[in-house]
Amino acid sequence: MPHPDARKFESGKLVIASHNPGKVREIAELLEPFGAEVISAGELGLPEPVEDGETFIANAEIKALAAAKASGLVALADDSGLCVHALGGDPGVYSARWAGTEKNFSVAMQKIEDALREAGAEDRSAHFACALTLAWPDGHAESFEGQVQGRMAWPPRGEKGFGYDPTFIPDGHDITFAEMEPAAKHAMSHRAQAFKLLVEACFRPDGG
Ligand code: IMP
Repeated sequence: MPHPDARKFESGKLVIASHNPGKVREIAELLEPFGAEVISAGELGLPEPVEDGETFIANAEIKALAAAKASGLVALADDSGLCVHALGGDPGVYSARWAGTEKNFSVAMQKIEDALREAGAEDRSAHFACALTLAWPDGHAESFEGQVQGRMAWPPRGEKGFGYDPTFIPDGHDITFAEMEPAAKHAMSHRAQAFKLLVEACFRPDGG
């Protein structure tokens, strides 16, 4: 088992450091079997810190530590994005920002394709990454990163999923995340991998 010495969550209230109700609901369902009474940073009126880290883990730690310190409770935060290898890992931690304030992912996907063409890149490999940090009010933090490897497709295909899903084909498949059944994507995703690592290290099945 990885991280045998990781600090454990000892049941009770757990703050999800997100103001996105969809994300909070999804995480609450995942953590319900572990005795976690989930409450969101939004419900507590906690401020959103500036995410200026250079890695997914750095950003997850900024969010989780800010929420833990402000609330006095254990807090969980995530950060995720798409890294295209021939672009030096871009858009990476800027994945949401590449879509602009309009959150237009058609524009963001086109930007990646244009950059790959401009670079004359034959390598279309990429990965999605998800970092999760569990933080305590005393400043202790446990962080985990999950990844799913794949390659960039063009043109975008599929209507399911969100964000960059229509341009990402996971290794071992020939359809994009947006063409896959959600359950199939969720079983292999970067988020699923990160949750597996977090739960194995920091949660006990009986919630005790
Ligand atoms: P955040 O982690 O909520 O700050 O945003 C990460 C950004 O990365 C999202 O806005 C999406 O653009 C992208 N992203 C993260 N995970 C996925 C995924 O599973 N599919 C498609 N896009 C994703």
